[in-house]
Amino acid sequence: MSLKIALAGNPNCGKTTLFNDLTGSTQYVGNWAGVTVEKKEGKLKGHKDVIIQDLPGIYSLSPYSPEEVVSRRYLIEEKPDAILNIIDGSNIERNLYLTTQLLEVGIPTVVAVNMMDIVEKNGDQINLKALSKELGCPVLPMTALHGKGKDEVVKAIVAAAESKDERAEAPHVFGGSIEHALAHIEESIENKCDASVIRWFAVKVFERDEAVVEKLGLSEDEKKHIDAHIQDCEKEMDDDAEAIITDARYTYIQGLVDKTIKKATSHGKMTVSDKIDRVVTNRWLALPIFAVIMFGIYYLVVQLGSTITDWTNDVLIGEWVLGSVSSWMEAGNVAPWLQGLVVDGVLGGVGTVLGFVPQMLVLFLLISILEDSGYMARVAFIMDRIFRRFGLSGKSFIPMLVGTGCGVPAIMATRTIENERDRRMTIMLSTFLPCGAKMEIIIMMVVTFFAGSAWMAPLMYFIGFGIVIISGIALKKTKYFSSDPAPFVMELPAYHLPTVKGVLIHVWERAKAFIIKAGTIIFSICVLLWFLMNFGFTNGHFGMVALEDSMLRSVGEVLAYLFKPLGFGNWQGAVASVSAELAKEQATATLAMLAGASQEAAESVQANAISALFGGSTLVGLSFMLFNIFNAPCLVAIVTAFREHASRKWGWITFAFQMGVGYGLALVVYQLGMLITEGVFGLGTVFAILLVLFVLWALFRPAKKVEEGQVMKAIA
Ligand code: GDP
Ligand code: MG
Repeated sequence: MSLKIALAGNPNCGKTTLFNDLTGSTQYVGNWAGVTVEKKEGKLKGHKDVIIQDLPGIYSLSPYSPEEVVSRRYLIEEKPDAILNIIDGSNIERNLYLTTQLLEVGIPTVVAVNMMDIVEKNGDQINLKALSKELGCPVLPMTALHGKGKDEVVKAIVAAAESKDERAEAPHVFGGSIEHALAHIEESIENKCDASVIRWFAVKVFERDEAVVEKLGLSEDEKKHIDAHIQDCEKEMDDDAEAIITDARYTYIQGLVDKTIKKATSHGKMTVSDKIDRVVTNRWLALPIFAVIMFGIYYLVVQLGSTITDWTNDVLIGEWVLGSVSSWMEAGNVAPWLQGLVVDGVLGGVGTVLGFVPQMLVLFLLISILEDSGYMARVAFIMDRIFRRFGLSGKSFIPMLVGTGCGVPAIMATRTIENERDRRMTIMLSTFLPCGAKMEIIIMMVVTFFAGSAWMAPLMYFIGFGIVIISGIALKKTKYFSSDPAPFVMELPAYHLPTVKGVLIHVWERAKAFIIKAGTIIFSICVLLWFLMNFGFTNGHFGMVALEDSMLRSVGEVLAYLFKPLGFGNWQGAVASVSAELAKEQATATLAMLAGASQEAAESVQANAISALFGGSTLVGLSFMLFNIFNAPCLVAIVTAFREHASRKWGWITFAFQMGVGYGLALVVYQLGMLITEGVFGLGTVFAILLVLFVLWALFRPAKKVEEGQVMKAIA
């Protein structure tokens, strides 16, 4: 029989850091709240039969937010053998709220006071022995970031799990069974209300969770009895039960804290974090600083990255890999078609995608450093001020930031948003900031059409931002989405120097996904494209044909009509755009294959060949880039959006909206660009102008304020 241990604690208290350390796993550690939304499982290193479960961060066990429901159901239904409750020692008062609830669940618990490095630095003193005595469970110090204290914690938690201790269900209330409790209720009704009794029942019975009541197997009589008792108490105290309980908890915690914690007398003294925050979250400076930082990151990625990418493309893949594979195949007399497949299809296509990996690494490295340091949490806070203007909260910005790596976790990260309308809207918007794969398209097009200008990548990032804000404003004015922004409370974690390990795990996690994708999806699509490119019907029979007669061309010609108004309405542009929907970076592989300039060619030759696909027009290249970056994300992300909406209708709305944005943007840019540069005026121009007017109208029309009831109708 294996033992199950659940890691529970507030958001951002260090659960995942410890989880990764204990299990050797590489889950996402973020210096902000709400990163782990699903529970993750892993085996405890050195104990084959102990399973550890990383639960989402929660502030309490009340069933209000999705994270709380996940954690609560897990604890009550699956009954782990022990709970390891991690608390942030620098924030102990708030953290203990959950602790009191966890203890009431009646599972052996060990409390690990994490962030002891910060506690020590602040000069606070926590009397762990006294705390342990008060709570009735082991309480141990820990600094998960440096792996300090974890051995003792492991020992304690394994012992607790093995003890199978039929411990008093609520150590600081009273021990025992339901009967015991009911008897106690009788008594306490006579002796007026005992808040501790209600507190015990809080988690058991009436926090509005049917599943819990079910599990307890109470008889109807017992339920009635308890209900009556609760009502008595409510009358007696002239308050609703929940408020009474919350109050009782806080009183209890206050007493606990007074007895066990001595805060350093440095109140009012500013910590280093506070000083940094004075500047970076300053009302006026915050945004410019953020813009400069993001600009710097994308600038560096293109500058620094392109030097490395040149080398990987030209030397590593071009000369070494392609060179040796080609000569080896020549020598081995390999059939020409197979040579073509390997060199032009697989190496040309997959190689192009892999060639961008160094640049990805630089991007991921820089973003991970910002994240781990705690800066990104500030950004969510800064963004809150902007998002609030159009009715979203800073919470919606976190998924968007995650989206700069990959859209799939970004969409999943929207789970922390309780308000359904805000969540749907965030799903619709969270993939507009260019992800890593879209960066590949940007870099390829920038090298091809914009002489490698370092301004383009940051520009795309800011356009994405603009789209989020404009769409946000316009959507919030519609009947469905109109509502006031939810309050945004997020405490800002203390800044800390990013650890090498933490950052490397981040970078590797993200880069790994790209490399695996290159070896699987991209590889398969390249083989398929190569086949479609090289085979077709001539004079009624099927075989290898020239590109002009290929099946791909026939299909592409039909699709091309869709893209005529955007300027890249030839079959190559169409095929590249469609393939980009399977995986965004596939666009670069497809273009490289269609341009027929294999990796051996120097970058400038390849750029010329790709440019030729777009008639050598920078405007067309720009339109292609805008369409593919700002339309719907790749297939996996689209499927994720359908799943997270849990509604086919909303999945389609999201898809159509995103396609509309990408198409509209490319249309406007191309058509108005043609009007300005070439004086071309046609039906497309009219549509483009109408579209601009429509967007302006959607932005500036008065908002539809509706009553709650009407909104419900609008949804139904
Ligand atoms: P979770 O939300 O509870 O899973 O927390 P994470 O494991 O993602 O950690 C949140 C942040 O706190 C990360 O930036 C960690 O590097 C940091 N952190 C974790 N443990 C410690 C610690 O003991 N000391 C300090 N100073 N930071 C820590
Ligand atoms: Mg976590």
